[in-house]
Amino acid sequence: MIRNPDLQQRKLVRLAEHVLREKGLLSLPVDLKALAEACSIPLQAMDADEDGVSGMLLRFGNTFGIRYATHIPSEGFQRFSIAHEFGHYFAEGHLDHIQFEAGIHSSRAGFVSADPYEREADYFAAGLLMPSSLIRALLKRAREGLQSIETLRREAGASTVAAAIRYISETHDAAAIVVSHNSHVDYCFKSEALKQLGGQSWLRKGATLPAGTLTASIARRPAADRRRLREEADSDILDWFGGTRAVPVVEQVVDLGRYDRVLTVLSCAQLVDDTYQDEDELDESDEAMEERWTPRFRR
Ligand SMILES: [Zn+2]
Repeated sequence: MIRNPDLQQRKLVRLAEHVLREKGLLSLPVDLKALAEACSIPLQAMDADEDGVSGMLLRFGNTFGIRYATHIPSEGFQRFSIAHEFGHYFAEGHLDHIQFEAGIHSSRAGFVSADPYEREADYFAAGLLMPSSLIRALLKRAREGLQSIETLRREAGASTVAAAIRYISETHDAAAIVVSHNSHVDYCFKSEALKQLGGQSWLRKGATLPAGTLTASIARRPAADRRRLREEADSDILDWFGGTRAVPVVEQVVDLGRYDRVLTVLSCAQLVDDTYQDEDELDESDEAMEERWTPRFRR
């Protein structure tokens, strides 16, 4: 297993796209049933009262099957759960290392498990539902922040959290996503454009949400009051990541419902490159491409 998590994530996303291309299934929404048929892997829905796991990979010798949970009635989550099991099937080393008990591997998909194989299967799943070559075109046209994530989720039939993770690794926006639980950070990812800003700290796993932010106030509300909540406020990058330069950000907060998680999307419109807007009409040179990747302040 490669130790650089960024590199490993990109490798898994590429592998997923390669699988789809080979099977002639590279279009949105990705047809998971067709992929299962192409691999001779039967798919079976679990009963709605079977909870606790997101799905299972069954193995009897060299014959495989996938079962997926239905206790969460979200198509995006169910598709993600299936895609996660394909991750164990396709990713290097998984069939040798993941645990099978009496021919059954049980999963907790959705970026909630600390187990590295579960995480790898999650990244593969996000790439399988949202291949780079297909979502880049979508992101060019979508508005920044949460609107982009919702476009991906809708067009790809993916879960919100998976769409957020694919958005942040592919977007040209200066943006960050933060997933938190009980007022504490689960994980935080920044886009390449935001990393270029420099001089900032990271929000590490377990850190308390920054005081005074909309997210921190929402996190204190009882879970029942947060259900399906979607709010936004103006904030500043300093409030989130410190540094020396004030940059206004829009803070968008969505209740993820599942596992009591809250998603925060921070985007800095001020750091959006103006040439980016006209990109569709331009034949982009390498120079322009490089420039587009360098965030700068709008005058
Ligand atoms: Zn798993």
